[in-house]
Amino acid sequence: MDELFDIDILEIHKRLKNKELSVKDLTLFVLENIKRREEELNAFITLRDEDDILKDAEGLDARYPDYLRSPISGIPIAIKDNISVKDMPLTCASRILLGYKAPYDATCVKKLKENNALLLGKTNLDEFAMGSTGEYSYFGATKNPLNLEYVPGGSSSGSAAAVKAGFAFYALGSDTGGSVRLPAFYTEVVGFKPTYGRISRYGLVAFASSLDQVGIIARSAKDAEVVFAHISGFDEHDSTSYPMPPYRVEESEKVNIKELTIGVPYSLIEKVKEEEIKNAVLEVIERFKNAGLTVLDIDLPHAEYAVYVYQVVATSEASSNLSRYDGVRYGLRAKAEDLMSTYFKTRGEGFGDEVKRRILLGTFALSTGYYDEYYQKAQKVRRLIKEDTDSVFRRVDGIILPVSPSFPPRLGEGIKDPISLYLLDTFTTLANLSGIPAISIPLKKRSKEGFALGFQLMTQAFREDKLFALSKFFENSLDG
Ligand code: GLN
Repeated sequence: MDELFDIDILEIHKRLKNKELSVKDLTLFVLENIKRREEELNAFITLRDEDDILKDAEGLDARYPDYLRSPISGIPIAIKDNISVKDMPLTCASRILLGYKAPYDATCVKKLKENNALLLGKTNLDEFAMGSTGEYSYFGATKNPLNLEYVPGGSSSGSAAAVKAGFAFYALGSDTGGSVRLPAFYTEVVGFKPTYGRISRYGLVAFASSLDQVGIIARSAKDAEVVFAHISGFDEHDSTSYPMPPYRVEESEKVNIKELTIGVPYSLIEKVKEEEIKNAVLEVIERFKNAGLTVLDIDLPHAEYAVYVYQVVATSEASSNLSRYDGVRYGLRAKAEDLMSTYFKTRGEGFGDEVKRRILLGTFALSTGYYDEYYQKAQKVRRLIKEDTDSVFRRVDGIILPVSPSFPPRLGEGIKDPISLYLLDTFTTLANLSGIPAISIPLKKRSKEGFALGFQLMTQAFREDKLFALSKFFENSLDG
């Protein structure tokens, strides 16, 4: 790919400012990549008309230098199709939303627009963000740009594939149990999920509201940080938004890396069967250690239950959130005799199998007689998981983990065994259940079979400064 794709957002901004680059140059570059590979990758559900995109690009260039409000101005981007963009189709990759258009902008989208980001289109995902491979989409699976026979990971499959393939300089996704970090890992890009409450959820279609966060998929942690600074902050439209000003990039610059301590749950990492995944993470830890950071062995005694707790909590919340798709208010309405059969038929025809499975599981976990046994118990263990991370962060500044215990499955392979797919989230759900920020970072080297390798970092809630300081230190000094 063109060397244009090696330049980070701050450098692009500098060149736009110096007129060494134009928005049109950036746009022609991504459109060329899209033309070359979108047909095989299927990263977009809605791609805006090429002429309209180019018109927008020229419009921005014509307003030079006024359009350059911030480092993200003029940069072409893509947005996961469970985030509202006013007057554009919002499908959540589901048949049930066919024909629906978002009546307003999500807060994160509004902020991007205020900064003159150039929106190209809406990306593919697992239906309602439920999945780990991108295959549960009504619009067909997205493929992994590294190898077309494999899944790109999900549920933000299209956003990750788009960034890897040079269709966009960064993309938004959503992360309820790992949906930004897992596809980022499998496609060799960076995936960042903030502290719960730091990016507004207003306009993000609800899956499991106590876990959902908008996340960022980018080419580097450095870029993800810049984008985060522009879409974070308190929002009165989201009652779970945290009253805190937007993040500032200067915050990570103040962190003294060498004073940080990294916690490593060695006993969890040892259990990873995929040797190359395990060794890559252990190597990263060694590099931090050699660079002078303190590394401590830590215990997260309840972390091994995280993925199971996640499934109970997420499906329970999903069963309630998805009750709004009734054939009356949004999108699809099946032809039926009366109101009850309209509900049944619309939901029966509109939802895919995985979404139905989750609604059934969640309804079961919340039903009388099982509530105490499943939902309440899951909430109690969730509390223990959070106490684990709280207590660990009294001693360490960051935790290093694998992103997933296994490499991406071949297309069609995982679908036969849903539980095997749930387990891909073994190391990611921990962050959502405890509300802490996490990032998945690729390494420069790949596995013997050509799969991407990488690791995951987590920090205490609201300490994105340390998360990005560590990530950037790794990118600049340790990855080579
Ligand atoms: N893979 C997880 C699931 O299937 C996580 C999804 C997500 O983060 N949206 O639920």
